Amino acid sequence: MDGVRGHALLLPFPAQGHITPLMQLANILISNHIVVTFVNTDFLEKRLNHTFTHYLRFESFPDGLPPDHVRTLKLPELCESLQKHAPFHVHNIVEKIEQSVHVPPLTIIIADGVFSFTQQIADKFGVPRVAFWTTSACGFSAYYYMPLLIHHGYIPLKDDRDRYKNDVITCIPEMEALRVKDLPSFLTVTDAEDYMFQYLLREAQNTHPASLVLLNTFQELEGPLLSDLNSKFGNKVLSIGPLLLSSAGFGDAIAGTNSSIWNEEKSCLEWLEKQKESSVIYVCFGSITVLSDEELVEFAWGLEASNQPFLWAIRPDLVQGSRAVLPDEFVEKTKERSFFVSWAPQSKVLSHPSVGGFLTHSGWNSTLESISSGVPMICWPFFAEQPTNRRFVDDVWKVGYEMRENVVREEVEVLVRKLMNLEDNQGREMRVRLKKYKDKAITSVKEGGASYKNMQEVLKQMQMKTGN
Ligand code: UDP
Repeated sequence: MDGVRGHALLLPFPAQGHITPLMQLANILISNHIVVTFVNTDFLEKRLNHTFTHYLRFESFPDGLPPDHVRTLKLPELCESLQKHAPFHVHNIVEKIEQSVHVPPLTIIIADGVFSFTQQIADKFGVPRVAFWTTSACGFSAYYYMPLLIHHGYIPLKDDRDRYKNDVITCIPEMEALRVKDLPSFLTVTDAEDYMFQYLLREAQNTHPASLVLLNTFQELEGPLLSDLNSKFGNKVLSIGPLLLSSAGFGDAIAGTNSSIWNEEKSCLEWLEKQKESSVIYVCFGSITVLSDEELVEFAWGLEASNQPFLWAIRPDLVQGSRAVLPDEFVEKTKERSFFVSWAPQSKVLSHPSVGGFLTHSGWNSTLESISSGVPMICWPFFAEQPTNRRFVDDVWKVGYEMRENVVREEVEVLVRKLMNLEDNQGREMRVRLKKYKDKAITSVKEGGASYKNMQEVLKQMQMKTGN
């Protein structure tokens, strides 16, 4: 293949929030003449149904779980099975590439931060391993500083979480205002042998040998945290985000490639066209969150009482153990000002002028997409490092409100009304701050910006030695 400058193997953790940023990265690499081999589990590859191009290849491997396993809904089992099975299969995929005369030799392995097993494979084949943590810098710091948190006795919790949840943690650099309840959920367990606790503890420390550590964030948002991490990692930590924006700036080499696990329902964009500017609250809890029936109903009646138009993405598996069923009376009462989809084209929704607020579970991609579009948030985190993101949104960046864990319709109503009230002073200040962050995000990925420069560094690392 003429003009090929390198060959990157990209290995995301098999979940939507990990596939999306790695696919955006693939777009940038391909636009820079790097061949990409994108590796999925068989389970996801079947759902994504990819087609090959000259520059974009797909490989997949079995995750070791039966077809009817709920996977991300039982995360420890998925992680454990991947730890057991993935090293063997990924090794074989790399070996196959290295032996092939039809594809260029690998010049880099970019694997999810939680797949440190790739270090051994990279070392064996003499290729650098890059660790891509798809979390925020604050989320990664919380995982990275687990040994310190253990040393100071914060985690594992001695007993009931409720007793300690408001204790303030003072030992993590650049995160002085964190409360115990803001730590990633995997950390606030009472059992030191808990699978996810041990897994994250190990994986975060195993990031050290990586050649580079990539984070989908930007300097102007998480600068102090990035500096601190760089002091620990010998300046190997590069912020390259928001990838949503940088990827868009590189054209669309992955057009036609499906990177959504569910089918996007674009009809909501037509509905948004008919709504007033900044009038719609978009409600979506990402790809993994599950609600109880009661929580779904409380959110519904809170939205009804807020009197605000809303667009609600309700995945078929959003409610635990059953299909989400909204009360008929609620559907009837809100039919003039509501739109429901099972999966939204989220980044397009958030950048639509009719959308004025986002009720979110604070997943990192959702948070970054909201900031990149200048949309303020109501945060109701579900698990992982979402509570940490929530804390930064509410308390550090001040671009959203925290909602209590226990969903009650009155609080949903009050927060939605407050967020969507364009006359509210706190909200107005939030929108001014968001505009600044959005502009800085755009500048960061443009030529001369910090994320752009970092991306050039990543590209340099994966060029073939021959320089062709
Ligand atoms: N997403 C989407 N449509 C939906 C729900 C989610 O496109 O209806 C996308 C969203 O834009 C984001 C990703 O799925 O890029 C979810 O990632 P996030 O980190 O926010 O949360 P997770 O799903 O990992 O909990």
